[in-house]
Amino acid sequence: MKIGVLALQGAVAEHIRSLEAAGSEAIAVKRVEQLEELQGLVIPGGESTTIGKLMRKYGFMEAIADFSAQGKPLFGTCAGLIVLANEIEGQEEAHLRLMDMTVARNAFGRQRESFETDLQVKGIDEPVRAVFIRAPLIKKVGSSVDVLSTYKDEIVTARQGHLLAVSYHPELTDDYSLHAYFVDMVKDAAASKA
Ligand code: GLN
Repeated sequence: MKIGVLALQGAVAEHIRSLEAAGSEAIAVKRVEQLEELQGLVIPGGESTTIGKLMRKYGFMEAIADFSAQGKPLFGTCAGLIVLANEIEGQEEAHLRLMDMTVARNAFGRQRESFETDLQVKGIDEPVRAVFIRAPLIKKVGSSVDVLSTYKDEIVTARQGHLLAVSYHPELTDDYSLHAYFVDMVKDAAASKA
């Protein structure tokens, strides 16, 4: 099994390390052709406007939509979550529009630009260590979206079938449980196709 990490901008190497620790092969993805050899894809944190711009420039909008339409799992973290969302508060244009949710960017304000906490995540036994950096929040989800965790009553982890999104950076800690959860999603999706 091979999982890619979209490597246009943002935290790529850390995701590769975490995916490998969770038992998958992992590669940095810079060209759309590389998607063909992959069973799953991570869209990392960084700056969503920049990632969106580069995705449009290099043909990733159509290619990832097609990847998703094949039922192949996607995992968006922080800016990657914003890229997956149907709607972005205060912005006319969203990016991939794959997940039925409305997100707010930089939702914690200036005082709490970055912090760490332990989160209870549905489907994972132990609390997950989460690093929030100028993090977005999920303000609204559609009926097909499952809320997997909240922080102070706000949604920070969600899943819609083969799509997983988190507000924070799970790749910046030695806790690989969320990557293991995603690796399982990829295994399940590949098995159901075979
Ligand atoms: N604030 C960034 C954005 O809006 C996301 C921050 C991150 O990925 N750490 O794109």
